Amino acid sequence: MLIYAISPTIVVVVNTYKHMKQLTLPSLPYEYQALEPVISQKIMELHHDKHHAAYVAGANGALDKLEKARKGEIEINYREVMRDFSFNYNGALLHDLFWRVMKPVNQNIGPSKKTREVLKVNFGGVEAFVAEFTGAALSVEGSGWAVLWKNKDGELSVGQLEKHNLLGLNGMEPVLVIDVWEHAYYLDYLNDRKSYVQNWWQIVNWDEVEKQLS
Ligand code: MN
Repeated sequence: MLIYAISPTIVVVVNTYKHMKQLTLPSLPYEYQALEPVISQKIMELHHDKHHAAYVAGANGALDKLEKARKGEIEINYREVMRDFSFNYNGALLHDLFWRVMKPVNQNIGPSKKTREVLKVNFGGVEAFVAEFTGAALSVEGSGWAVLWKNKDGELSVGQLEKHNLLGLNGMEPVLVIDVWEHAYYLDYLNDRKSYVQNWWQIVNWDEVEKQLS
């Protein structure tokens, strides 16, 4: 808290400490079974209600510890709490976007003319983009994500995330993401990540991609 004495008679109190808000688990923008047959109801229930919920709780737990440490109420192991915070907070944000960039198979109308143009400028065309993004998703080592990013100049690139963490400078805004952790597909596809990723293109919500791009 800062107290400014503007004049001997007027004192303005400014509360400058505004910490990050606790996260809440967003509801899915569709029913659990809406993405079938590409992703089953069972996977969506577990993925949203258990995994995503755990990331939200983990992020809030870490925020709580940081808050208490700032006030001197507890001592924390910063390495542990920072990893926890990064893993869970990014995990929560990634899942939030992941749900939004998908929609039922029969509602997929493909990328708009505008989106096709943007992908052409950045990748040479929709097919080239899909090939690159698919290649990124299939080659994530272990658990992680493929991401279409936008930088501050609006330039696009495809990248990978290890687990949920980006261990480097970024400054990029995610546009389209796919979760390739085993919990995202194993019940439906076993170890066949390739079929999962190939089928996943049928449920991409291109309207949302266009929204993220602009
Ligand atoms: Mn996940």
